[in-house]
Amino acid sequence: MDLIRVRNVEKKYKNGVTAIYDLNLAIEKGSFVFVIGGSGSGKSTLIKMLYREEKPTKGQVIVGGLDVAKLKDKKVYKLRRKLGIVFQDYRLLQKLTVYENVAFALECIGEKKDDIRVKVLKALEDVGLKNKVHSYPDQLSGGEQQRVSIARAIVNNPKLLLCDEPTGNLDPEKSMEIMKVLNDINKNRGTTIIMATHDEKIVNKMKKQVITLKDGHLVNFKQKGKYENEAI
Ligand code: ADP
Repeated sequence: MDLIRVRNVEKKYKNGVTAIYDLNLAIEKGSFVFVIGGSGSGKSTLIKMLYREEKPTKGQVIVGGLDVAKLKDKKVYKLRRKLGIVFQDYRLLQKLTVYENVAFALECIGEKKDDIRVKVLKALEDVGLKNKVHSYPDQLSGGEQQRVSIARAIVNNPKLLLCDEPTGNLDPEKSMEIMKVLNDINKNRGTTIIMATHDEKIVNKMKKQVITLKDGHLVNFKQKGKYENEAI
């Protein structure tokens, strides 16, 4: 079954730039999909439309049965509950410990303390950081901080995990550690993962589905693709 359907989507920003042209996609539940393409090709815009940070100017985006563009602002939480988001720059709260960073969103929605504890420790175990629960972000390496941000994104077991250049600030070795964590989450939790990247080595190594964008156009959607040089 499809978790995501994108139909005839165009995104034109207010300044007149068209970031996405007539895009059509169907992404099955449980998939692991890379979105690749050079800088400015529309990768972030596509990711942002999936979590309603941006609305398409034309067409339809369906995520988990929700018509994303049509959602009223006060219903956006319904979409956000279905997904987790990981950014290049981690975006952790510096004054909170690792545990508190991961627990924060669950506390905000009023979950019971005991349930929070079980979920947070499981998420931290899944990213290999159970031994760092009491550390603060500035006591961690970049790779570890990114793993905390992944734990935060998966703590409520979302159907979908969106990652926008999650390895962009990391060296090749730390990047591969992150990819192993993401691969395990996809396999063990069944989470659908969509990851924007321009890291050619990672894409070639992982042999996942690949959506290639070029200047806002879909140029390729391969089942087990490789990085396409002509797209950069
Ligand atoms: P990528 O993630 O592949 O680098 P983006 O989706 O960030 O690409 O950008 C696609 C195009 O849209 C670029 O030309 C960029 O300058 C433009 N763009 C992105 N965000 C905005 C915005 N908020 N306002 C206007 N133009 C934007």
